[in-house]
Amino acid sequence: MPRKKKTSIPKTTKKRKRKVKRFQTVRGMRDILPDEQPYWQKLRKVIEKVAVDYNYRRIDFPIVESVELFERGTGMDTDIVDKEMYKFKTAGGDWVCLRPEGTPSVVRAYLQHGMRTWPKPVKLSYSGPMYRHDRPQEGRYREFYQCGFEALGEQDAILDAQMIQMAMRIFKLLKLKKVSLHLNSIGCEECRPSYNKLLISYLKNRKKSLCMDCKRRLKTNPLRVLDCKEEKCTQVVSQAPQTVDHLCGDCKKHFTTLLEYLDEIEIPYSLRPELVRGLDYYTKTVFEFFMEDENGSQAALGGGGRYDYLVEKLGGPSTPAVGFACGMDRIVNAMKNADTEPYQAPTPKVYLAQLGDVAKKKSLKIFEQLERSGIMVAESFGRGNLRSQLNQANKIKAEIVLIIGQREALDGSVILKDMNSGGQETLPFDKIIKEVKKRLKKNADMAKKIAQQERKKAQNLKKKKKKKK
Ligand code: AMP
Repeated sequence: MPRKKKTSIPKTTKKRKRKVKRFQTVRGMRDILPDEQPYWQKLRKVIEKVAVDYNYRRIDFPIVESVELFERGTGMDTDIVDKEMYKFKTAGGDWVCLRPEGTPSVVRAYLQHGMRTWPKPVKLSYSGPMYRHDRPQEGRYREFYQCGFEALGEQDAILDAQMIQMAMRIFKLLKLKKVSLHLNSIGCEECRPSYNKLLISYLKNRKKSLCMDCKRRLKTNPLRVLDCKEEKCTQVVSQAPQTVDHLCGDCKKHFTTLLEYLDEIEIPYSLRPELVRGLDYYTKTVFEFFMEDENGSQAALGGGGRYDYLVEKLGGPSTPAVGFACGMDRIVNAMKNADTEPYQAPTPKVYLAQLGDVAKKKSLKIFEQLERSGIMVAESFGRGNLRSQLNQANKIKAEIVLIIGQREALDGSVILKDMNSGGQETLPFDKIIKEVKKRLKKNADMAKKIAQQERKKAQNLKKKKKKKK
């Protein structure tokens, strides 16, 4: 008797199904989902407004840049270049990286596109993702967003003050209170060498008490010891000579002028001798913005300063410059904690419903006609059931529902249902736009009138209460 063949198909399909891999974001990276977007939209709008108000023009530059740009610009011995940069060799053999910050790219673009011939200062602003391979934690990501402002070609301290004023304006417009400004001056090529000598001799005598990193920094970049967060180092640093006491005449004048400007615009500051910003290019002014979170710990929202030698270091002529960058992810977190109103997109007041195949075909065209004439329309074209479409219209609080049924589609008409009055009428296609606009305007005027009356009522109530007192 012939043997029966075994049917083994289900086994293999099962196996294959189990093997399909589900992907997750790479460590330190995250998705910004639609629910969070209104905060980002609000932030972007505020940044754009401030950029326009203060005359900054937008620049976009590549995410991928040459490694050397940051090694030479930001500095070899900085954490973001030495430890945190994403670098790789391209198929063509070039060493490139994902940008860890914006300033060197702005300066590269300034030189590459001959902006030094533009009227000075050249004011540029940017926003976009940056990449640092640091240990991920709350508020620290490997892909994060920064917005930045840079002014090139002017050394007057008024620009430093204006940078700070702009950042504060952004925080104010976002209703972020309790943002404090930390400020310091770290001198220039004139006064820094003698200060460094003094600092090195002070630190050398206390070398045993420094962390391993700071022992190395003592040789490579002694200024960086000042902003080390290790407790044993902060203790040593608390008694160290301070940069502001050893500034040359020019730097001292620049710093006191900046302080006068800040007093004039009533921006309080806290002088922080340990603030050095950790990047090679800073000169004179350095500043950082901090905000206390609900646990009482301080988070840096942004920072910046003057970088008078960077353009020269990247091959250009001597060009003073100043700028700052803010961490957008951290600002968004702060906005949520501060109950800042997120951006509210205008919502459609008209809903388009269709019933039957012919009507469905017509509805795409009618939707386009309405949209083109500036009327925002909601729809749920995938649904065929009229009741479910009307439920949707109620949900979004539509003022007008346009219904195209089988008969209307054939004779070129639309049923207009006024959701406020409940009344409805049938209109030919070509009368729809005019009628919808008329009714929406009437509703808007009515809403305005009611709001005015309510405001008046509230004012009268207030007056009465005052009189009673
Ligand atoms: P920095 O120039 O490095 O001080 O960066 C400016 C601002 O960007 C900081 O004050 C933070 O708000 C933000 N920032 C820097 N690194 C990160 C990161 N890894 N994740 C999130 N935000 C960051």
